[in-house]
Amino acid sequence: PFRPEDQQDRPGYFFILSGPSGVGKNTLLGIVLQGLSGVYYMPSATTRPMRPGESQLNPYVFVSKDEFEEMIERGQFLEWKKIHTNDYYGTHLPSIRYAIENGYDIITDMDVLGCADAVAAFPEHICTIFIMPPSLDELSNRLYSRDADQRNIQKRLERVELEMKYQDKYDFVVVNDNLDESAQQLREIIQEVRTSKNFK
Ligand code: 5GP
Repeated sequence: PFRPEDQQDRPGYFFILSGPSGVGKNTLLGIVLQGLSGVYYMPSATTRPMRPGESQLNPYVFVSKDEFEEMIERGQFLEWKKIHTNDYYGTHLPSIRYAIENGYDIITDMDVLGCADAVAAFPEHICTIFIMPPSLDELSNRLYSRDADQRNIQKRLERVELEMKYQDKYDFVVVNDNLDESAQQLREIIQEVRTSKNFK
């Protein structure tokens, strides 16, 4: 639920974070949002299983494959992708449209291909930010510490290469080597865009 006092005197901005799996987007986003009022996290829908520490809406709307496919049929997604395994991830179009039209600033994370679709759909209202790992070694360490299943990790690492190729297409790039510093940098970028009258 959006609070009326957060409504801006302009269309809402749609902030999108991308970056390879394991780069710490969700952790970073959690920290950023704590120090940033008036920016709303928009959870994507996914069919992937919850990880320890996750819950409904945090960070996704967890749905079954049938539910997801029904949403596709009803045209509920701005974009959707099958990522890594056979799991679906998608961005709920009516929520995004509502926020932009009503002057609410929102943020979500998407893979690089989904982000490209979103930019095509809302070219003027989107600010895209790419989160870079400090190094590829660091990234694979993070993936290993999170998921014991070797096949999953291999799939994610294969995708890293694709994701990294897209960084030039983003409005901003932030290297996530120190969580607090990167969060601060991200917060500054977001606030700067929010207060600039003509970001795009
Ligand atoms: P994870 O399973 O690690 O949470 O996320 C896997 C990938 O899915 C990440 O690259 C993340 O950015 C991406 N992702 C999350 N939500 C969406 C979405 O709604 N659409 C697309 N295209 N990608 C998403």
